[in-house]
Amino acid sequence: MIGQFKEQVDSGLLQRFQDKYRPTLLERKGRHLCVISAQIKALDEEFLPLFSALIKTDSDIQLASRSFDRETTSVTFGEHVIGGDSGNMVFIAGPCSVESREQLWTVCERLRQAGVSCLRGGAFKPRTTPYGFQGLGLEGLALLAGARAEFGLTIVSEVRDSTHVQEVIEAVDVVQIGAKAMYDHGILRACGHSKKPILLKRGFGSTLQEFVQAAEFILSTGNEQVVLCERGIRTFETKTRFTLDLCGVAYLKEHINLPVIVDPSHAMGFRYGVPGLALAATAMGVDGLLIEAHPTPDAALSDAAQQLDLDTLAALRGRVQAVAEVVGRHVV
Ligand code: PEP
Ligand code: MN
Repeated sequence: MIGQFKEQVDSGLLQRFQDKYRPTLLERKGRHLCVISAQIKALDEEFLPLFSALIKTDSDIQLASRSFDRETTSVTFGEHVIGGDSGNMVFIAGPCSVESREQLWTVCERLRQAGVSCLRGGAFKPRTTPYGFQGLGLEGLALLAGARAEFGLTIVSEVRDSTHVQEVIEAVDVVQIGAKAMYDHGILRACGHSKKPILLKRGFGSTLQEFVQAAEFILSTGNEQVVLCERGIRTFETKTRFTLDLCGVAYLKEHINLPVIVDPSHAMGFRYGVPGLALAATAMGVDGLLIEAHPTPDAALSDAAQQLDLDTLAALRGRVQAVAEVVGRHVV
């Protein structure tokens, strides 16, 4: 349940209300709100004078629910906005990992030529084995900052764990929380305290309810700038790396007030399927795509099989634009 407080409330009554329900308090667009577990179906009558409005939700999808706020939240990607009534779709591309200055600069030059505004690249990589490349760490963040300065690209990079959360938040324009970090409440809350836009990826074993509740940790800590990213879930299928849940994307677009973007690269795991999935997601009217690309994909230090080469990426950017126009979207 979400309550909107009246402008003037009795402080004694407010204190008793807080003692009884332990609500999460927050301020949004000048409104003073509280959120209480959806398990509580009704408040004691004595507390009703505190509120100008009470919105009941049937689960703990609350601040992210369209029954709380119908309009899709506007989220800033550098000089562009997605969500709201922008009609924009952001095209985010770049390597899985930042590997060297040479690799990154080659990617950035091609992104600029292809009209891509947003660079992705991991500096702190969450790997499934401790023996694989773990990312360049702070050196990678410095390279990303250099790429922003030289090419004017908006930088998206991920927080991996508790060790460098603040460094990543400060260095990037959009903070990515990876699939494996989706349940890390320390990371979620740190991102909630930040004012930077957050790109939250769905855990590959997470239900839509769990995914959106992870976003609620960020929203309820005070950061409204959250984008959800479907990146494939684990199913019984083994021929593809994961299964891209486009049904889930349709659910999120219908019921959730946050922009939704799709990452076909990690879902598919093989480059041959990535363009088709990207176009399918575009046809659904998603708010963005996140695509891995590398100058020499087969030699990539992580996710080699799924990264597009830069020619294929540039061609895909044009094809995405053509489909986006059909569904009334503008690629930024
Ligand atoms: C990535 O974007 O490179 C990545 C590791 O993705 P995910 O967290 O979805 O596996
Ligand atoms: Mn990757």
